[in-house]
Amino acid sequence: MACDIVVLGGTGDLALRKLLPALYYLHRDGYLHAGTRILAAARAKHAAESYRRLVQRHVSQHVALGDFDSETWDAFAERIDYLSLDVSQRVEFPRLAQALGKVRGRVRVFYLATFPNLFAATAKHLASVGLVDEQARIVLEKPLGESLKTATQINDQIGAVFDESRVFRIDHYLGKEAVQNLLALRFGNALLEPLWRNAHIDHVQISVLETVGVENRGGYYDQAGAMRDMVQNHLLQLLCLVAMEAPVHFEPEAVRNEKLKILEALRPITGMDVQDRTVRGQYAAGERAGEQLPAYYFEKSVDHDSNTETFVALKAEIDNWRWAGVPFYLRTGKCLAQRKSEIVIQFKAVPHRLFSQNGGDPARNRLVIRLQPDESISLALMAKSPGRGMALQEVELDLNFAKAFKRRRWDAYERLLLDVIEGDATLFMRRDEIEAAWRWVDPIIQGWQDCYRSPKRYAAGSWGPDAADSLLERQGHCWFDEN
Ligand code: NAP
Repeated sequence: MACDIVVLGGTGDLALRKLLPALYYLHRDGYLHAGTRILAAARAKHAAESYRRLVQRHVSQHVALGDFDSETWDAFAERIDYLSLDVSQRVEFPRLAQALGKVRGRVRVFYLATFPNLFAATAKHLASVGLVDEQARIVLEKPLGESLKTATQINDQIGAVFDESRVFRIDHYLGKEAVQNLLALRFGNALLEPLWRNAHIDHVQISVLETVGVENRGGYYDQAGAMRDMVQNHLLQLLCLVAMEAPVHFEPEAVRNEKLKILEALRPITGMDVQDRTVRGQYAAGERAGEQLPAYYFEKSVDHDSNTETFVALKAEIDNWRWAGVPFYLRTGKCLAQRKSEIVIQFKAVPHRLFSQNGGDPARNRLVIRLQPDESISLALMAKSPGRGMALQEVELDLNFAKAFKRRRWDAYERLLLDVIEGDATLFMRRDEIEAAWRWVDPIIQGWQDCYRSPKRYAAGSWGPDAADSLLERQGHCWFDEN
């Protein structure tokens, strides 16, 4: 189906590093209809040709080695046009309408790669020039709002213009192959289902750790912090996929209903519990592999007295039959020792110890779903160590996707952009999910503000504040990190 993909914020980091390379691949692999056009817009002035050169530079850098070739590029470039436009100015929108032309029934995707404070005005202005019909879709980037109140306002304002079925709130984690493989693993195999509950699972860890600091996003990040930037969206969405019941169909409403039930079953963390069950940290100066790393408050555009957290660890609990009593530990942070995003499902120990083991701990199995830097799933099993006796040792059953599937692995944005073009919202967040997530997160942020405590310092390049280890040690657990 021919469509117009309008990237508002077309000169930004997200557009140039992720969206246009993803569209290049979709074009190259034949997923874009011959009549599909890409119109990028931002305030910066560019002639179409100079914008194409900018895109070419970025696409050639961001696609895999050998995947960029001039013949494909030339054909792709013909689809691209550019319009200088300030989305906050209603008077500029007739030019956008003119550039798109009056083609009724054509799918139009408006991708808002700008900032949430511009979303509502953009939607209103699009409608004011007749660009919002039943074939128009809007894609909203995270974070949507900074609290339940602001998220509700944005949702109301967008909802006044776009029907909910045409609003695509993106969380690119849900576009990752390993995340979808988690669904395949859970609901495409009968093996795990009987074990996937509190009778057999001891606890769950969800970690999204970054080695980079705030880079050039200091201004935004200092207002947001790790809780709003990562926990409210990515980590809670991953938690939902681990914990939700099997949907009746793999289609948008069925999947999103199940995720919502989990968000609503999260036990609130309020009052004194905020201090007991959460840890917030901020990186101080440190080093990694001999490189000196600055403290957060020396980063560009960050307030020198900033109390913003760059690290969060917390213990979440889900009050339902399947998960009662199983801690879900969530952890995210910047400037840490290692970059990794992973979900660890720690099963309970064997009820009776029959064999001796290296290390002496009772045997436990562990399923690790790794999303970054590589995508893989591994299951730690106990096996007999070769030789005399019955000493056990942990071995891994490893599903490495790169080895198992020779085909190129899609980037999350390719998959999600194609879903938007095809109108499939299964992997996008519905309004009530976003609001339920904020409803749970808001009291934690409030609790931090009420206690006036600064975030705990941790050295840049370390694994975060010691308090994050103590949070688990109190329950006899520890983070599964390889030093
Ligand atoms: P960015 O690099 O600062 O880009 C922002 C873009 O918006 C630029 O093209 C900017 O161009 C344009 N813009 C700003 N004000 C505008 C206006 N009034 N009218 C028209 N265009 C305007 O930011 P980004 O990193 O790409 O992030 C964009 C959004 O995606 C943010 O909401 C961010 O939270 C979200 N996001 C980004 C990433 C990522 O990897 N970068 C990942 C997840 C989510 P002009 O200044 O020329 O107008």
